[in-house]
Order: sequence, then C-alpha cells, then structure tokens
Amino acid sequence: MNQREQTPRVLIFATKLGYQTRAFDEAARKLGVELSFVTDRCQRLDDPWHDRALPVRFEAPEEAAYAVMQTQLGRGVDGVLALGDRPTLAAAYAARGLGVAHNHPASVEACRSKLRMREVFRDAGLPVPWFRSVPLRAIPEPALLGIEYPCVLKPISLSASRGVVRANNREEFIAGAGRLQRLLESAEIQATREPNLDRMIVEGYLPGKEVAVEGLLTDGELRVLAIFDKPDPLEGPYFEETIYVTPSRCSETEQAATQKRFQEAVGALGLMHGPVHGEFRLNAQGVWPIEVAARPIGGLCARALRFCADGEGGTIGLEELLLRHTLHLPGKDALREAVASGVLMIPVPSSGVLEKVEGAEEARRVEGVTDLEITARLHDYIAAWPEGSSYLGFLFARGETPEEVEAALREGHARLQFTLTSRLPVEHPVTRRL
Ligand code: ADP
Repeated sequence: MNQREQTPRVLIFATKLGYQTRAFDEAARKLGVELSFVTDRCQRLDDPWHDRALPVRFEAPEEAAYAVMQTQLGRGVDGVLALGDRPTLAAAYAARGLGVAHNHPASVEACRSKLRMREVFRDAGLPVPWFRSVPLRAIPEPALLGIEYPCVLKPISLSASRGVVRANNREEFIAGAGRLQRLLESAEIQATREPNLDRMIVEGYLPGKEVAVEGLLTDGELRVLAIFDKPDPLEGPYFEETIYVTPSRCSETEQAATQKRFQEAVGALGLMHGPVHGEFRLNAQGVWPIEVAARPIGGLCARALRFCADGEGGTIGLEELLLRHTLHLPGKDALREAVASGVLMIPVPSSGVLEKVEGAEEARRVEGVTDLEITARLHDYIAAWPEGSSYLGFLFARGETPEEVEAALREGHARLQFTLTSRLPVEHPVTRRL
C-alpha cells in the first residue's frame, strides 16, 4: 500500500458481477477499503453497488488496461485482483501500468493457454504427459500423429473443464475432436474471441486421484490455504467437477509433495503475487500439475473457505483475506479454520431446459449441510458437459471430519431432483446450423 493518507483503493477485474463481487464489497466496507470494478459484462449491470463499474473488453487486454489506466492515473491504486480466468491478463497489464505489485503479463498469459503451460512445465523439468497441438479443421488421422491411448482432448483457452474429453481409441478421438470443433465454432464461443479456437491440445491421460489447491503468493513465495480432495473419480469421458472437501485425506507425504510441486509450478510460470489455484493428479510416478490459474477458486466455491484472523474471535471469508493480503493489512496470514468443509458443484445430468427443482428444503435439513444455492434459473437452457460450463447450483457442508462432510454432501444431493426437458433444435438464422 502506498503512503497516501487516503482510503486504500483496490481494483477488481471480474467477468461476473455476482456473489463473489458482493462478498468483496462487504469485506471492503468492513475494512474501510474503496473498491472499483472493471468488467466486460456492463450491459447486464444494474449498478448494485452504486459505483459504476468500468466497462472494458477482456479479449483485448492491453486496450482494456489502457482504458483502466486512463481513469485511474493520479487516483492512487493500492491493489489489483482478478476473478475468473478471462480478466487475468487485462488485470496484469493494468497493474503493471499503474505500478502495483502483481504478476507479469507473460506469466499470466502462460496460465491462459493449456499449450503454453505444458511447454513451460516441460522446459522447467516438471512432469508433463506427452502433448501436441492439433488443428481441428480438418481433423487429422490420429494414427498419423502418433497418438497413444488413452488421451485427453482439450480446447487451448477455455476453462471449467469445458470441451475436455477423454478418448480411449481412434473412434473416440475422431468423435471427441468433432464435438470439440462444433463447440469451438459455436456462436457463443466465437463471441469470446479467445485465441486458438481453431486448435486443440491432445495429451496423455494421467491416471490417479486429483486435488485442487488454493494458494496465496507473496513475492513468489507460496502459502497453501487449503488442499481440496475430489473424492469422485474423474476418469472421463468428461470432467465435470463435483465434490471438493478439505482438509485433504491424502497422506502427509503426498500433501507435502503437492505443496512442493505447486511452488515449482508457480516458479516455472514466474507468478509472484496474489491468489493462485492449482489442480494436480497424484499417482505412483508422483505429483503432476494439471493446471495453475492466477486467480482464486471460482465464485461460490470460495464460501467453503473460512479463516481465523488473528485476535478476532470470528472467521473471515476468502475475499476479506485477499483484500487484507493485497493491502498488507493485519490478518493477511490467517489460517483456515479447524473444521472440515466442502462443496458440491451440482452436476447437470443432461442438457435441457430446467423446469423444476424439488427437494431443496429436504437437502438443507440434512445434518452437516450449511447452505444450498441453486444458481441455474428456471426455464433456462443448461448444457451438460463437455459443452456446458455452469452447474445447477452449490451445496455446502461442514463437520468434524472430511468423511462426515462428504457424506452430508452426498445425502443432500440425493434429496434433490431436477427436471430438465430436452430442447427442440432450432436453426441458427445466420449459420443455418441446428
Ligand atoms: P480447465 O482449465 O478447462 O479446467 P484442465 O486442463 O484443468 O481444463 O482439465 C479439466 C479436468 O480434466 C482436470 O481437472 C482433470 O480432471 C481432467 N484432465 C485434464 N487433463 C488431463 C490429463 N492429461 N489426464 C487426466 N485427466 C485430465
């Protein structure tokens, strides 16, 4: 924080102005911090904070950063945070221009490309599966590429496991690549103007259990906030997330090895400051980094994390911890509370229009369940994975042990019923595709 005798100011770059930005707003009010939001979703904004968010286009990060600097120069900015993957690069350029400690844009850019990240890890001597970048049009004959099975086909710059498909043989490879091509050529994805929408990365399938790790970087030094186990097997063909539970039930040795690998991975990428989220696979060969993102855990899932700020009886949320960390305020080193905690990202059983949700009250009454948030809107179309990227909602539980938390989440989920009706195909007026 600089030495101005003024209220500290933090810029928050976010694609969605929703739960997480509101949680930041509450934390900022408590800490006496002024927030300004930078977003590319202003057309949907009804100005809930009475603090007009600055509209930018995240797909043009340098332009977005320039627009931010124009409005902020001379006003003093003490911290920059990015929520979600898309705004991270614009945030890094803006922080650089404003002289705020943050990550180098090149480091953040490597996190936004699954191909670049593999190259960085390989060049740093970290374990990586074999991988190759492949054009999607025309889909090449896998035998000519020397593809081995099982393998995983992935878009280069989407997130939330969207478009990620496992292939066990040539037929599945061809079908998966076709499906990925249709997704990447869809009007919705083309509108994001993400780079590399005409290619995919194909890599060896890594067996093993998977963990997600939430961390915080200070001058390149990693502090692990929580290791989440993912107790449902993620073996494909698609990789929709379900349950996250912390503390991890992995052995001390596995947890230490994961922490070490995470530090190596952020070091290889050159990430230096702020929140980082990593996914790792653990098997007999060791700990494999699947990916590292220069942002905190997504939106509502952050609610599963509470921290004991020094000298305060109660707990604080991740958003408050991140503000304290960015501004070097007391409490920035708060540890996660002692209880076990978890979240279920409620899976989408099949694509369709959500007609009815039943059992919410019954799910909330399950012992250990602390919260249920149905985020999908009634009568809206919701896509299942691999095309989808939004969950039906989020179920939270707390308990003495991770086992109890997992059981509560499973029981709560079993009480919920979602009625989805399949949508009639409609021809797109321009592309004429169904
Ligand atoms: P995204 O950024 O879209 O989440 P990831 O690269 O993290 O994409 O992949 C999403 C999920 O797919 C991972 O969490 C993991 O479960 C699975 N996955 C990705 N790559 C592999 C791989 N090489 N082997 C096994 N599973 C993989």
